[in-house]
Amino acid sequence: MKNTLLRQLPKMDNLISNSEIQEMIDEQPRKIVMRMINEVLEEIRSKVLNNEISELTSEEDIVKLIKIKVEKYLNYSLKRVINATGVIIHTNLGRSVLNEESNKHISRINSGYSNLEYDLFDGKRGLRYSHIESIINDLTGSEAALVVNNNAAAVMLALNTVAKNKEVIVSRGELVEIGGSFRVPEVMEISGGTLIEVGTTNKTHLKDFVNHINENTGAILKVHTSNYKILGFTQEVAIEDLVALGEKKNIPVVMDLGSGTLLDLTKYGLSKEPTVLEQVQKGIDIITFSGDKLLGGPQAGIIVGKKKYIDLIKKNQLTRALRVDKMTISALEATLRYYFDENKAIENIPTLKMIAETYVSVNNRAHLLLKLLDNKYGEIQIIDGESQVGGGTYPLDVIKSSLIEITCSNKTAAQLSAALRKLETPIIVRISEGKILLDVRTLMNEDFEYIAASINELLE
Ligand SMILES: *Cc1c(COP(=O)(O)O)cnc(C)c1O
Repeated sequence: MKNTLLRQLPKMDNLISNSEIQEMIDEQPRKIVMRMINEVLEEIRSKVLNNEISELTSEEDIVKLIKIKVEKYLNYSLKRVINATGVIIHTNLGRSVLNEESNKHISRINSGYSNLEYDLFDGKRGLRYSHIESIINDLTGSEAALVVNNNAAAVMLALNTVAKNKEVIVSRGELVEIGGSFRVPEVMEISGGTLIEVGTTNKTHLKDFVNHINENTGAILKVHTSNYKILGFTQEVAIEDLVALGEKKNIPVVMDLGSGTLLDLTKYGLSKEPTVLEQVQKGIDIITFSGDKLLGGPQAGIIVGKKKYIDLIKKNQLTRALRVDKMTISALEATLRYYFDENKAIENIPTLKMIAETYVSVNNRAHLLLKLLDNKYGEIQIIDGESQVGGGTYPLDVIKSSLIEITCSNKTAAQLSAALRKLETPIIVRISEGKILLDVRTLMNEDFEYIAASINELLE
């Protein structure tokens, strides 16, 4: 029986002469079509052997299966998705979004040659960092600046430069893990510094630092405990005191600021976080922060601080390995330019715009979306809820928002959310108590029609 089935299975040659396969071979990479023919035949063969099928799949169906596989393979793997989670800086969904004007600029730079490392004034070799260094200095008040691949790289590079084969003193309360892959002890190890933990989880005093300083101390490190807060009986050493200590002992103070906001966001209802400018003014020697968190730009690690140390970092061979490409530089320059005017920054940088949008405005937009949705097959309504800044920032802050709540009559919430993920442009939603929630804060108006049409069709 099995053998009969296997013998009847179309041969590769037969399939290749099938007219639809021929068409595919003409239009698509031959190698991929061949591979998918093999894969489909192999899958059927193993099903026959495992007694999973007792009837041969028709050639027509085999061709269909091959077609689906080829199409799936040739589709983009990295694609745009719609973020209905209400988490503004969503690390799994690519963190910050860039606006259209920035994207136009980036596309222009990247679809031609550019003066990336060419000095147009002298007609000689230039420096890639020159395009963004002075704007970063102007916005943060720093003496010098450098940009690398991401903040993890920035911290590692800074420590490697000032504290390789030396000791780095850190408070036990700041040995953080961010997003599962950035862990202070491990970054320290890679940088070649030796971690000296001082104090306790909840309390660290200045004397804990003083007591551990010796001739082999390379740096004092302060880490922003981005994604958690220690509450209750706690004490941390103020950065001002660490800076004074560092100055006295001639030891650089490095601060991993994590998100690093350039604006005071308390006006928009968030708790106080010192801006990068405020931190620089405290005299910290080296400060690092991310480009794609609160700054709202591309993935990058920005290093600012005293020229003396930034110059050392620029000369480190590791900098070459961690350097950023023209895509990053063009995206960062496009983003940073808005910051000269706070209103322009809030209006044009999507991350900031989503944080700053008032509840009333989100609620109005929720009503626009609701109007497009068909209430026939489920119960759809607007409810109040909470958005989050995300990206490991503001762990305790929430922003009041309006959400579309869908109770579906013919599908479970898990089924509907899976179907939404399978769309051409997937929609990523929240599920709560068996209901689908779409937080309108992170949705863009231009996607409303698509979202509504997709949901209406799926609910039918
Ligand atoms: C987010 C974060 C990092 C990692 O930054 P990436 O830009 O993701 O590399 C490191 N330290 C702190 C404190 C952070 O918040």
